[in-house]
Amino acid sequence: MSDCLFCKIARGEIPSKKVYEDELCYAFYDIDPQAPVHFLVIPKAHIASCGAIDAENAPVVAHIFQVISQVTKEMGVTDFRVVSNCGPQAGQSVPHLHFHVLSGRDMTWPPG
Ligand code: AMP
Ligand code: ZN
Repeated sequence: MSDCLFCKIARGEIPSKKVYEDELCYAFYDIDPQAPVHFLVIPKAHIASCGAIDAENAPVVAHIFQVISQVTKEMGVTDFRVVSNCGPQAGQSVPHLHFHVLSGRDMTWPPG
């Protein structure tokens, strides 16, 4: 989508601090980190949220989880949390599917 913030980041039109990239997904550090390690993983193709995952686009989501496992291993990160907020009430502020990966501090449960 032409005016989507994360589509623009995936295309390199808005600068970001890259963690990982391949043909299907892009990972970059969150601009407002909530933990010592906080990066986002997004599909390069626009998907609005977890609520828009279907049989056709689900393979990229599986791929993203594989990437999260690989990248955290490479970082030496063993304990981490993966979060995807779906919809404004759940805290989604950017309407392009993204998975937060947070690590490096004690986490509380349930999340607020
Ligand atoms: P959410 O609120 O779950 O939709 O997550 C959106 C995340 O994107 C927030 O944690 C923001 O800090 C982050 N964010 C917004 N703009 C940028 C940007 N230009 N570069 C990196 N992260 C961003
Ligand atoms: Zn988008």
